Amino acid sequence: MALLTHFHGDHIDFAPLLQERYNSQIITCTENADIILNPSKYNFSCHLNWYGFDINKISITKTIDYEETFYWNDIAITPIALPIHSQGHCGFILNLNDERVAITGDTIQSRGDDAPIFEVIPSNGETRNNFKAFKRLLNENITLNCGGHGSHFRQCQKTYEEAFARVSNSQKLFDNLFDDK
Ligand SMILES: [Zn+2]
Repeated sequence: MALLTHFHGDHIDFAPLLQERYNSQIITCTENADIILNPSKYNFSCHLNWYGFDINKISITKTIDYEETFYWNDIAITPIALPIHSQGHCGFILNLNDERVAITGDTIQSRGDDAPIFEVIPSNGETRNNFKAFKRLLNENITLNCGGHGSHFRQCQKTYEEAFARVSNSQKLFDNLFDDK
């Protein structure tokens, strides 16, 4: 099974190979699936052929709404909205062995370090969405955050809280900069 967090080619272009070799299910959230399947409906097109593969279509096995828990074998997986990095970006929360895992794609990642050093990629200076992402995760007692590009970190609660404080601070600065009163 592959869980797709967003439509960027470096995250989806290997999906057809997974299906061909392992008959993998390809699962993602409704909005992201629509962007992948109908890129011309959106302001930007889907980044297919990121690696120059001979593909022009990604087949999605299962499309799930945010917060609609589903099962893969006996593992409950809850998809969540994790905006910021791209339109329709989603994440997934699941219990695996003794871990409470958050799969956060490119919205929350740690540059590949196993440490609470990570970057939040802002979208157009809009930090309010960052609040939503961190608020959603703060109550989940996550023990392992798996971000995009092989990055992961532990001490998730502390890291989310620090990041939340940081975006709160930058939001104040933005509010002052763009105060139209
Ligand atoms: Zn990306």
